[in-house]
Amino acid sequence: MASALLEEMMYCDKCGHDTLHRKNAKKMSWILHIVLSVVTLGAWVVVWGILFIWHLLNKSMTALANSWTCSNCGNKKLIAI
Ligand SMILES: [Zn+2]
Repeated sequence: MASALLEEMMYCDKCGHDTLHRKNAKKMSWILHIVLSVVTLGAWVVVWGILFIWHLLNKSMTALANSWTCSNCGNKKLIAI
């Protein structure tokens, strides 16, 4: 799994002004799964399917507690969607 870093300008309660906030976002590496599917002659598709469902469940869980970290003071900002 590849991990991507998201950056956004947001208001920090601790700093009292807009600062750069960072968040880790997990990304599925599609190319890796396609390569593995070809190598295992399609057997990996089953594993991929399980991983995909797990990923969807995991995604909805992190969406509930969407946390951004202030790059200035390290204050965690929780955003409920
Ligand atoms: Zn801050």
